[in-house]
Amino acid sequence: MDADIIVIGASPAGLMAARNACEKGADVLLLEKKEEIGNPPHPANSFFKGMLDRCGERADPSYVVHYLKGMKIISPEGREIIVETPGYSIDKTKFDRFYAEKVMKTGVDLRTGIEARDIWKEGGEFAVITSAGTLRSKTVIISDGINSKIASLLGMNTLKHPEDIAWGTELEIRAPGLGKPEMFEYYVGNHAPGWKTTYAPRGGDNAAIGAYVRRCGKDATPYLNAWVEKFKQLKGLEEIEVVRKLSGGDPIVTIPGDYITDGIMVVGGAAGQSGIGYAMRAGQICGDVAADAVKKGDVSKSSLSEYRKVWEKEFKVEHYVGRIGLETLRKMTDREIDEMAKVFENEDLSFIHGSAFEQAMQVFTFMMKKKPSAMLKYRAFLRNK
Ligand SMILES: Cc1cc2nc3c(=O)[nH]c(=O)nc-3n(C[C@H](O)[C@H](O)[C@H](O)COP(=O)(O)OP(=O)(O)OC[C@H]3O[C@@H](n4cnc5c(N)ncnc54)[C@H](O)[C@@H]3O)c2cc1C
Repeated sequence: MDADIIVIGASPAGLMAARNACEKGADVLLLEKKEEIGNPPHPANSFFKGMLDRCGERADPSYVVHYLKGMKIISPEGREIIVETPGYSIDKTKFDRFYAEKVMKTGVDLRTGIEARDIWKEGGEFAVITSAGTLRSKTVIISDGINSKIASLLGMNTLKHPEDIAWGTELEIRAPGLGKPEMFEYYVGNHAPGWKTTYAPRGGDNAAIGAYVRRCGKDATPYLNAWVEKFKQLKGLEEIEVVRKLSGGDPIVTIPGDYITDGIMVVGGAAGQSGIGYAMRAGQICGDVAADAVKKGDVSKSSLSEYRKVWEKEFKVEHYVGRIGLETLRKMTDREIDEMAKVFENEDLSFIHGSAFEQAMQVFTFMMKKKPSAMLKYRAFLRNK
């Protein structure tokens, strides 16, 4: 036996799962196929404080490149909904390394340059077949990201709506003063079917712009190219310098499916838990449950289902509310989005707080008071599109 728990993928979810399990006394081996943590980097470049708070974590200045005051959601005709909420533009390589160091300090055996290729059950233990030979453990946590091969090799359908993965491409760009604004900008509408284009200021002359689409194939480049031209026009720029292009899949509204089986748990993007903060919190829950199960000597599906119970209590409603919201947006016309934005334009939205369910209710009450007819726009959700 090489460890109590083998974690596959030093992702935000995997790092937290490994750390929590180790802190609870389990012997943990964390495998990462990249030769170096954070290289090449994942395209994620920012997050908001609220989510980090839920993980009990604090942003560390070592990886923050720019502090944000909040976000603007901008409709097709330029109506702005302003949400003040502190956030951070981050250097994802430094972020990954920051957590990898923390994780190793707790005693996790982190091995890079090792790719997991398969898992076999042998008696009461698991054999993880890797590029560096076979490793054995009592239980396995799969945190290998949205393109998870290991979960599908085991026949697990971890996403309820895999057709709804948002495929995104981000460009790191430079132009004088482009990184200075303090608001993240999301542009919604049919120029990016199913989701958004973005502008993330990154301090000084640096920024990132991205395009994310759903049900339009895996290559968002045509939408990004159109966004670059529109962005230059909006910001009055003649030229921008492109530093780097990064792409990937984001399971934002895919909803977790079948992510636990005997001795095995799937976590993070691989299980439809999208976003750095969400993946980290799910990793913490998963790591705690794995360590407790090993201690009890019962790693059956029923014992590991505590992970599903805790996760659902914290996040199920939020994920379903989010899915309904983004599906409605995908089906709305630009005109409907503009009319909806009019209701919230120039309003102080700081009253919105609490759980996702509470937030949905507060938005509902606000709309009923301000413009009840706007509620009818939600009928778009029922369209067959
Ligand atoms: C373009 C894009 C931009 C995004 N931007 C943001 C953002 O700004 N903010 C935000 O919160 N979220 C963002 N997201 C979503 C977010 O990045 C993911 O939800 C988050 O990274 C969580 O992913 P994860 O922990 O599941 O795995 P990942 O971050 O995908 O990591 C998986 C890890 O597993 C390793 N691995 C894979 N297979 C194996 C194997 N067989 N053996 C060993 N190791 C393996 C990989 O090398 C990788 O290190 C973005 C997503 C995309 C695609």
